[in-house]
Amino acid sequence: MTTATDCLFCRIASGAIPSTRVYESDDIVAFRDIDPKAPTHVLVIPREHIVSLDHLEPRHAELVGRMHLAAANIARDEGLDDGWRAVVNVGEGGGQTVFHLHLHLLGGRSLTWPPG
Ligand code: IMP
Repeated sequence: MTTATDCLFCRIASGAIPSTRVYESDDIVAFRDIDPKAPTHVLVIPREHIVSLDHLEPRHAELVGRMHLAAANIARDEGLDDGWRAVVNVGEGGGQTVFHLHLHLLGGRSLTWPPG
């Protein structure tokens, strides 16, 4: 498992920094965003330190699939029956501010398209 001691989300995954967890498994942690952009705003992350989608390797294919399955299960648990959104910001130009791969799960309000 690759971890980075100076990475905020690695520290959240290890429990060194507290978070409101909604799901965890051997390789995935999901917790509520500290600054929610929707009534439900959960971040789904791998425990492994992967910087972004640009840094995926073929061996990560199943992990990324499990992140999406976790998001769908959490959305169901949160009662997001009208729909929800999964977003992954990639790189500074893509709006990424924390450089540890994370999937935003957003729901509980009307979501417009395209995003800004
Ligand atoms: P990004 O802009 O796609 O990289 O998303 C990073 C997200 O992490 C933002 O939505 C932040 O609100 C969220 N965030 C930053 N620090 C924390 C924290 O300590 N706990 C939970 N969420 C955080």
